[in-house]
Order: sequence, then structure tokens, then C-alpha cells
Amino acid sequence: IDNFHELKLAKWIVNSCATMGMKKPTPIQKACIPAVLNGRDVIGSALTGSGKTAAFALPILHRLSENPYGIFALVLTPTRELAFQIAEQFQALGAPLPVRDCVVVGGLDLMKQSIELDRLPHVVIATPGRLAGLLNRPRPPKLSKLKFLVPDEADRLFEKRFSKDLSFIFSKLPTTRQTLLFSATMSYNVRQSKDLAVNEPFVWTNEGGETTVKKLVEEYLFMPMSVKPTYLYKVLDKVGPRKQPSGSPNAQEDDEELIK
Ligand code: AMP
Repeated sequence: IDNFHELKLAKWIVNSCATMGMKKPTPIQKACIPAVLNGRDVIGSALTGSGKTAAFALPILHRLSENPYGIFALVLTPTRELAFQIAEQFQALGAPLPVRDCVVVGGLDLMKQSIELDRLPHVVIATPGRLAGLLNRPRPPKLSKLKFLVPDEADRLFEKRFSKDLSFIFSKLPTTRQTLLFSATMSYNVRQSKDLAVNEPFVWTNEGGETTVKKLVEEYLFMPMSVKPTYLYKVLDKVGPRKQPSGSPNAQEDDEELIK
């Protein structure tokens, strides 16, 4: 399999991928997308930068476009930042629909989120605490027609501090849904996730057991809070603007070197 079309994704999704500079599916996408489209539950051990977000977002968008309604999919993630990143990918890849998403995380106005959820967005991306809080209020969000549950970064999600909220959230979800679980490691926490009712899942693990892709360069700068914006400006200035996916002389190179 060498392109998204062969994965039996709708044409609009293949085009959407091309617009984003995604021409060849990554290994996790090749393995998991057909399984999801076949209605299987999936457990994927996914490296950062492996393309796992698209591995679940693309087949969800495919199914959503056949019968668009809300709330269709719920993505649970341990941090606010991840929630926003996932929402961005859904927006970008689902732009032709267009997909309506809602990020449900702490630190945002509770009433506003509640009103947004009343409008039945297609995809909800949430951290456990805030979603559990909203489910506990009068007029809780309607999750009864949910088709997909995605516990993302499950090794962190299933840490003890989230367990009460997660159990409560899971108790509100229909059991007929598909569950797509992704995790950097298949830790004890993940294997203990018995509330999840995963049904004969398709399991995908990367070989080698590393937790980041080899080409990914991770660096950090330790600094006082007050100079953070200045440092950020400097770093971004050094890295330069993102390469344009199409038409750029380096487009081919971008495909091969997924993320730097
Ligand atoms: P993730 O592992 O989901 O955090 O994805 C890492 C980055 O790779 C994201 O910026 C995606 O837009 C990008 N990406 C995902 N799949 C592909 C692909 N098949 N080809 C090129 N880039 C991709």
C-alpha cells in the first residue's frame, strides 16, 4: 500500500491529505485505518510523530461523512495542549465537510463549553476532569449516540489521578461504539483498563519498543518564566517558517521525513 486511496478512504479525504502534504500513509496508518474501517476496535502502540492522530482521525472522518451527526466521536487525552493539537488536525483534515469540533478542557469558560456541546459538535476532544464535570451538571452533553471513543496517550490517561473521572465518563457511553486506543507504551495502566470493554481488538505495535521516532529531535531549554516569550521568538526565528507542503521543491523530502 503506497497511498491513501488504496486504504479505501473516501476521495475527499485522500484529497484532504494531499492538501496537507500527506501522500504516503505511515506504517501505523497503513495498519490501523483498514481495521477501523472494518469496524474493529484498535489498540495501537504509537510513537510521537508516527502519524497516529491521522490514523484515527481519517477513518472517523470517513464514517462521519457517510452520516454526519453529533456527537459522533469523543477523543480523551491527558493534556490541554494535546487536545488543541488533535482538534487542529480534525479541522484541517475535515475542512471539506466541514467538521465541527469542540475542545473541552479546564481553563476555558464552563458555560460556553456547555452551550457549544448543546449544539452537538461532530467531534469532542476532552481532558477527563472537565468532561466529567460537565457530565455531572444539569443538561449534560449527549453522548448516547457516540460511534467512536479514542483514548489517546492512554498510558498517561489511565494514571490514577484520572481514574474516577474516566470510569464516570465510560459509564455514560454506549457500548456499541468502536474504541480506538493509542498509547506510547503498553504499560500496566493500559493493560488494566478493564472499564473499556474493548472487543477482540486489532493490536498494532511498532517494532523495537522505542517511544519516539528515530528522526524526531527533542530538545528543551531551561529558563526563567519571564524570558519565555523572547526565547520562543528566537527559537522560531531560527527554525524558520514551515515549508509549504505542495509546490515546494522539498515536498518529496517532507513526505519521507515525516517530522523533524
Ligand atoms: P502525530 O504522530 O499524529 O503527532 O503526527 C505527527 C505529524 O505528522 C503531524 O504534523 C501530521 O500532520 C504529520 N503526518 C501524519 N501523517 C502523515 C503522512 N502520512 N505523511 C506526512 N505527514 C504526516
